[in-house]
Amino acid sequence: MPNASERSTRQQAKAPESAGSLELVTVSGRPHLDDRGEPCAVAPLSQGQKTLRAFGIVGALPDDGARAEYGLNQWRENVVWLSGAAVGLVLAIFVLLPFLGARFAVLQSVVFKMLIPSVTAIAFGTAVWWVFIGRMRRSIAPRIASVYLRSGQCASCGYALESLEPEADGCVLCPECNAAWRQERIGAEDPSDAQ
Ligand SMILES: [Zn+2]
Repeated sequence: MPNASERSTRQQAKAPESAGSLELVTVSGRPHLDDRGEPCAVAPLSQGQKTLRAFGIVGALPDDGARAEYGLNQWRENVVWLSGAAVGLVLAIFVLLPFLGARFAVLQSVVFKMLIPSVTAIAFGTAVWWVFIGRMRRSIAPRIASVYLRSGQCASCGYALESLEPEADGCVLCPECNAAWRQERIGAEDPSDAQ
């Protein structure tokens, strides 16, 4: 049976995981919390990362952290993208092609009949993904935070934290955005990998 100090250590270690519970992000638009319970952001994606993710080009993402984060949400992103593409395809076939084909004879060729739905589907899939990516990421902000911290980066802005000393409460303060993260979470092994 664990003694009191072991229990309290374990609870302290677990506290950061539960600190940013899902209700604190998403629907109400309220911010995600750092390990001191202060509001913080979800580390933003660059335009380049967004573009690569929108098209599922995982291998070109800049680092393991970015790829691991994508892995957390990949299936949802695929569903969102494909749903948008399906809407685009239906609109192209049943609205756009008949409308344009009636006005421009050249658009009645097989090439355009293939090209217009394809382009419309890709454009709709990408646009819908782009609209929802922020919301999807906020909804799993605590899990994204763990991925960033494991790779040694601030979960709020992406700044490299590994060489920084913790403060008295065991939190490392990000010099870039002032978010505070418990030192044991930074660069830590994924618990699911260790077992
Ligand atoms: Zn930061």
